[in-house]
Amino acid sequence: MSGVRLLCLLAVCQTLVQTTIAAPSSRKNKPAAAAEPRIAFNSVHVDGPYIAMTFDDGPSVKLTPKLLDLLATHHIKATFFVIGENVAEHPEIVTRAVHEGHEIGNHSWSHPNLAKMSDESVRRELRRTEDAIKSATGARPTLLRPPYGSLTARQQRWIHDEVGYEIILWDVDPYDWKRPGAAVVCNRILKETRAGSIVLSHDIHPGTIEAMPRTLDQLEAKGFKFVTVSELIRMARPEPGKEPAKVPTTTAPPQPVPTTPLPPSSG
Ligand SMILES: [Zn+2]
Repeated sequence: MSGVRLLCLLAVCQTLVQTTIAAPSSRKNKPAAAAEPRIAFNSVHVDGPYIAMTFDDGPSVKLTPKLLDLLATHHIKATFFVIGENVAEHPEIVTRAVHEGHEIGNHSWSHPNLAKMSDESVRRELRRTEDAIKSATGARPTLLRPPYGSLTARQQRWIHDEVGYEIILWDVDPYDWKRPGAAVVCNRILKETRAGSIVLSHDIHPGTIEAMPRTLDQLEAKGFKFVTVSELIRMARPEPGKEPAKVPTTTAPPQPVPTTPLPPSSG
């Protein structure tokens, strides 16, 4: 993929997420003491070199255990946003992940676009998944990552108020679901990750798992420290009000939404 096309996709994705979820990026917020508590996060303002690696769409019977082995070797804790259907098929993988210190978040039962569904259907998607996670781990999740990052502001509010979820998006997206190859996945993550980043990828693609040994080595070499998403949120610090919204360095601001159909988003 050319650089221009990648930038275009990134801009489209960013615009899509912002328009569908109206995620209150902390970078636009007032200091925390004066603002409403945040309920949605693309990244977190922190005082140290902390980041959260997140893996969506699993568990995969073939790939997730390999990733867990690697994370254990590095003593890295990650966050898995699991699909309920997959948890029901392989609860033992989710049980193992929790035993090894990882966090489990809700990623819906069947990966639909929640923004297009009735409240009752959304409720069913979330509850079924919650039940499967609770049955595998003994605890209910407190984080939701909507598939494709797609959720309306109204849904975001009621889901938070009714179920207590924090809505977790991302600020680093290697587009690994397009299977660009391990080297590209690795390089994209290394290029975009900064302190407080929430890194998105998927533990259902072989190239993503193949990319992780070098990715984790290099992130460690840059001094990053790995925490779960909930830990990262607990580290949140107020930030200067005038800090500009995060955009990839050296690139132009996001472009207007094109009139052509949007490509599928990540998540
Ligand atoms: Zn997903």
